[in-house]
Amino acid sequence: MNYKIVKLKTHDKSQKNRSVLLIYTGGTIGMIHDDAGSLVPFNFVKVIESIPELSKLELNLTVISFPKPIDSSDINPNDWVSLGYIIYENYDQYDGFVILHGTDTMAYSASALSFMLEGLAKPVIFTGAQIPIGNLRSDARENLITAIEIASDQQNGIPIVKEVCIYFNFGLFRGNRAQKVRSSTFAAFESQNYRMLAESGIYIRYNETSLARPKGLTPLRLHQKFDNNVLILKIFPGLTERIFNSIMGIKNLRGVVMETFGSGNVTSDHWFTEALIAADKKGIIIFNVSQCSGGEVIHGQYETSKKLEEIGVVSGGNITTEAAITKLMLLLGRYDSHQNVKKNLTIPLNGEMD
Ligand code: ASP
Repeated sequence: MNYKIVKLKTHDKSQKNRSVLLIYTGGTIGMIHDDAGSLVPFNFVKVIESIPELSKLELNLTVISFPKPIDSSDINPNDWVSLGYIIYENYDQYDGFVILHGTDTMAYSASALSFMLEGLAKPVIFTGAQIPIGNLRSDARENLITAIEIASDQQNGIPIVKEVCIYFNFGLFRGNRAQKVRSSTFAAFESQNYRMLAESGIYIRYNETSLARPKGLTPLRLHQKFDNNVLILKIFPGLTERIFNSIMGIKNLRGVVMETFGSGNVTSDHWFTEALIAADKKGIIIFNVSQCSGGEVIHGQYETSKKLEEIGVVSGGNITTEAAITKLMLLLGRYDSHQNVKKNLTIPLNGEMD
């Protein structure tokens, strides 16, 4: 890709200033209204140059913009590979990374990056806004400036945050634990199964015990193969055998994130059990996650989920749907063997489940 690169302050190694790489992908934060009144992505380099606060930051800031900024609803695994590659290539030159991204799919992208960047020991902070940066009441300035501050924050010369996160509305969340839960207030994200990593007020207060503690001894490794022969299927009362079986009959389908009721429960109808057995025999992996954003899948807690373990359905525990689908795609890209994928789904890769 042909990235546009802008250096807001000279990245000069002789200066002691910390350095942050800001990657702009698109999203509301940099949008403007088109002639028809719809929000469309805009050339952020122009916008960012006009934020005077940025020049007051005591650090070297470099901005890379996707050649064509996108609404995050258009994001796909190729974009994750681009993001992963930019971070991998620039890893040694910067103290931290900020990714400006639309909120709609931010939790998917943050989850994907958390799995792609094995051995990460520096901050990668996703942020965005609910209102474009050019608007008077925008939440963009606070989100952006604090995200940059977190990305450059260190203690005794070591980064405080060493993982992929989402910073939004005064809260820092582990990226693969967060979900977009609101589209019309500033508090767009929540992480119901994992404590916030930090809260920003007068000071930024880190929850030390919740932060990832990688030793940073192994070199950064980039995984960049995704297999998207997958789907997310939300179970609902009234789902028919005909519809379910025709979905399971899709050619080359390799994995399904099945969103079930409560703590992982499904209908006890005989046809459903038979359909799951048949899917497993065909090599389709079923990854069970809860429709509730708080809580977890516990196979066997109720009669209605007892059989799932025997059938070969994999419990997702308290993983989010966003983390589940990206983890599934990545593991399917990495392993051919059905058993290897299943085994690795149950092992936390990067703090996404307990
Ligand atoms: N549709 C926008 C996007 O995800 C929404 C946002 O940025 O808040 O790109």
